[in-house]
Amino acid sequence: MNQSELIEHYKRIIEISQQLGSTYDHMSLLKQIVDAATELTHAEAASILLKDEATGNLHFAMSSNIRPHEMEEIVVPLEGSIAGWIFTHGEPRVIGDTTSDDNWYGGIDNKISFSTRSLLGVPMRTHKEVIGVVQAVNKRNNEYFSDDDVITLRTLASQAAMAIENARMFRQSDFIAEMVHELRNPLAALKASISLIQRPEVPPSKKDDIMKTMIGETDRLIDLTNDFLNIARLESGRVSLDVEPFRVQSLIIESAEVIEQQASEKGVTINITDANDTADADRGRIKQVLLNLLTNAIKYNRRDGDIFVDVQSASDEMLEFSVRDTGYGISREHQKHMFQKFYRVPSLEDTAKGTGLGLAISKNIVEAHGGRIWLESEVGHGSTFYFTIPKADI
Ligand code: ATP
Ligand code: MG
Repeated sequence: MNQSELIEHYKRIIEISQQLGSTYDHMSLLKQIVDAATELTHAEAASILLKDEATGNLHFAMSSNIRPHEMEEIVVPLEGSIAGWIFTHGEPRVIGDTTSDDNWYGGIDNKISFSTRSLLGVPMRTHKEVIGVVQAVNKRNNEYFSDDDVITLRTLASQAAMAIENARMFRQSDFIAEMVHELRNPLAALKASISLIQRPEVPPSKKDDIMKTMIGETDRLIDLTNDFLNIARLESGRVSLDVEPFRVQSLIIESAEVIEQQASEKGVTINITDANDTADADRGRIKQVLLNLLTNAIKYNRRDGDIFVDVQSASDEMLEFSVRDTGYGISREHQKHMFQKFYRVPSLEDTAKGTGLGLAISKNIVEAHGGRIWLESEVGHGSTFYFTIPKADI
């Protein structure tokens, strides 16, 4: 690099570091790091591997050339892999030709139909420890990774490690505060009920009502803790999806049956199109997404409203589901926050009970499948939620 190129290059690194420092969302942070690694080292692709505390192996947390569900299947052992070597030694590695390296863990290329020629990997080190590895693969124009690339990627990786650590701490404190807050209401209701039911002057008929409240609040606590666990697991990026081909029609019908009662109480009709498609995804989790969207479409619908569920082909690889309602709709200002944890539209808060976790959980599930979730809405007319998941190739 000549001098002006070098200055440009460092300006870019500083810009990227600043961006990293202000992102707290785990997935978009990892995505930014991967994009920056690809760009700065002129590589074809890049990946981040993080240590899975449960198994002690490395796993792909983000990659520009491996699909999310493929990443899950790939376990990179600490022993006998290049990334493992980088992690345990805390040193960078440059490999000109991966096929001639003893430590090359060739199993990966077979799984992802991508062929790796050259590779540069560096440890991601916080002030305490190594938390993962950033890898750039295939330097463009068939060149080899240079010493400059090593320095660049090391700088990026240490910035990235700090950003990941900050984001982890930020998320934890934020999440714990919200969670405790949500648990307080049902706990307070339970405590009040318990003291009331002990009083001798409370007639037995009244006691039945109090018991019902207690059961209701206990159920709410169970739902809440399940949601919390769910989202914590999903966000840690270590969920294992149970991906299998399944017919979408039967899943939609099954999900509609679960909420039929709730819909008819509000006079809401669920209209389902005939879909012939087969998806390749974790059926149980996609059911969870559909149930979240359908429950919302009932809760935030008008009396005697409608719901339309549809499936279309979005591309050669993806199916697009849509759930449309004839409810209150959501203004633009609120739309952009819809998928954040604990976000609820203030004006709708009293219309239905909820925690504001359903859509955040759904987003995590859809993205773990390599899909996307979004909405279109018009205030006073209704909303349509869309999401995509992989098709089965048949
Ligand atoms: P829960 O955690 O029980 O699902 P929730 O339904 O409040 O609680 P989300 O499903 O995440 O949480 O939805 C977040 C907010 O978005 C809701 O509180 C509501 O304000 C708004 N919302 C969601 N779906 C719709 C819809 N179909 N029409 C209008 N507003 C909606
Ligand atoms: Mg909901």
